[in-house]
Amino acid sequence: MGAWEKNVRKVVPYTPGEQPDCTNIIKLNTNENPYPPAPGVADVLRKFDAQVLRRYPDPAAEALVCALADHYGVKKGQVFVGVGSDDVLAMSFLTFFNGKKPILFPDITYSFYDVWADLFRIPYQCLPLDEEFEIRTEDYFRECGGIVIPNPNAPTGAEKDLSELEQIMAHNSDVIVIIDEAYIDFGGESAVSLLSKYDNLLVVQTFSKSRSLAGMRIGYAFGNEKLIKYLNDVKYSFNSYTMDTVTIAVGVEAVKDDIYFQKMLKKVVDTREWTKKELRRLGFLFQDSKSNFIFATHPKCPAKALFEALKKEGIFVRYFDKPRIDNYLRISIGTDQEMKTLLAFLEQYLGENV
Ligand SMILES: *Cc1c(COP(=O)(O)O)cnc(C)c1O
Repeated sequence: MGAWEKNVRKVVPYTPGEQPDCTNIIKLNTNENPYPPAPGVADVLRKFDAQVLRRYPDPAAEALVCALADHYGVKKGQVFVGVGSDDVLAMSFLTFFNGKKPILFPDITYSFYDVWADLFRIPYQCLPLDEEFEIRTEDYFRECGGIVIPNPNAPTGAEKDLSELEQIMAHNSDVIVIIDEAYIDFGGESAVSLLSKYDNLLVVQTFSKSRSLAGMRIGYAFGNEKLIKYLNDVKYSFNSYTMDTVTIAVGVEAVKDDIYFQKMLKKVVDTREWTKKELRRLGFLFQDSKSNFIFATHPKCPAKALFEALKKEGIFVRYFDKPRIDNYLRISIGTDQEMKTLLAFLEQYLGENV
């Protein structure tokens, strides 16, 4: 091979969940929302004037930043927006994690964190969850280059008490603590309330799950104004026009309609609680999820066999062939009908195979 290869930035990319392009499946593998986005979103798209696209978008995405600031009761200068929270998180790693000490995150967590750390050459250390798959708060009371914690955690779905997260912020005031709240709207308590107390806190959220807009790519972060300014400086040094004009308009509509949002969230949460009861009845074990998925294991049936059987049936869930979690399935919450079909198949399968 050519000598040029030694200068290549070699990375092992993140593997996203399958997006099979057939229609007749039940797709419970990437935590998408089963319900449509706010009705105003479809209106905006229908009425959109293509002429507008001649112009570059607003690099500051002012309309969306203002809508988010209004809705969450923070200042405009405390809001950063990006192309999905993956973009926001990647920019945050690049901006804030430039020390020599390792950054810390759990061993079982969103599998993009170590990919970004490798990509940006950031040293990192994964701290093991305990036997019950809980984050051990005290483990994070130590010298480090920064901290990333998803709350609720993925793929476990478990929520950490805000008071415990606060202890982590307080013990690490000399580094940035990122709380990734991709699933917070499904019943968790947001760290946004701690922003005025901790200037080292960055709270990251997304439109992909709770606002049914995974295909639009909108993520955002809240932090103190100085921190957000640093993030924007890096973003504008990389690509000024990350968010397109259509996306900005769609995002504003989605934030405005809080009545629809609350109603739809309640449906997902009700279905989740029903699914928990049914899974328990069939003998599955799992933590008390506060997200839109359940991470379950069955003491008498290997997860991998179940995963394959479900797939044959056209029901896609997520299976991770990784240490500690290779006997678990992560099941996203779909519509009531989808969950009933899933449960009926599981009941039949376990009856025949266990
Ligand atoms: C889905 C997810 C994200 C990324 O979502 P985007 O679609 O990029 O906004 C980030 N963190 C966690 C924990 C997730 O599950």
